[in-house]
Amino acid sequence: MTCEVGDCVLMRPSENDKAPYVARVEKIEAGSNNHTYVHVTWYYRPEESMGGRRQFHGSKELFLSDHHDVQSAHTIEGKCTVHTFKNYTKLENVGPDDYYCRFEYKAATGAFMPDRVAVYCKCEMPYNPDDLMVQCEQCKDWYHPACVGLTSEQTKQLADFVCSDCSSSVKKSVNTPVPLSSGKVVPKRQKR
Ligand SMILES: [Zn+2]
Ligand SMILES: [Zn+2]
Repeated sequence: MTCEVGDCVLMRPSENDKAPYVARVEKIEAGSNNHTYVHVTWYYRPEESMGGRRQFHGSKELFLSDHHDVQSAHTIEGKCTVHTFKNYTKLENVGPDDYYCRFEYKAATGAFMPDRVAVYCKCEMPYNPDDLMVQCEQCKDWYHPACVGLTSEQTKQLADFVCSDCSSSVKKSVNTPVPLSSGKVVPKRQKR
């Protein structure tokens, strides 16, 4: 197997029952006696991070760490693809070697970059691409079927979905949006 700088590779773990490690090849170096070494940056799986795996972490989620290493090229088992989060959610078929990365991870401190993530639904959870979600046609927010009282089957058959907040504001659509950034809502009309 040949690999190039920039490739993402699966590396054999020291214990056989563990999932392969994922790394990005940064440099390939020929050592003595025909041995090839690869300089790698490790991708961490959520369970390998300090905070552990959380509910919004997808099964194919990886964090690009700041942890570098030099490994024997022999430990490379194969190549894989680490997609951006956006591209991953657009994949029609997720293969066994497709992963995604939306956070960088500082191995020493356990800090994530970015340290904020957009949240969706009434439950205010970051998007987990493994979970089915339905988008409201109006506010464009995403919802878990269970959080809005739908089954997965109903969601798949739904042509358009409008969340309860939007469907109730349709009835009183006389409201014009007001900027809330100042923290103060100024009445539009002040009649005496
Ligand atoms: Zn939810
Ligand atoms: Zn809505």
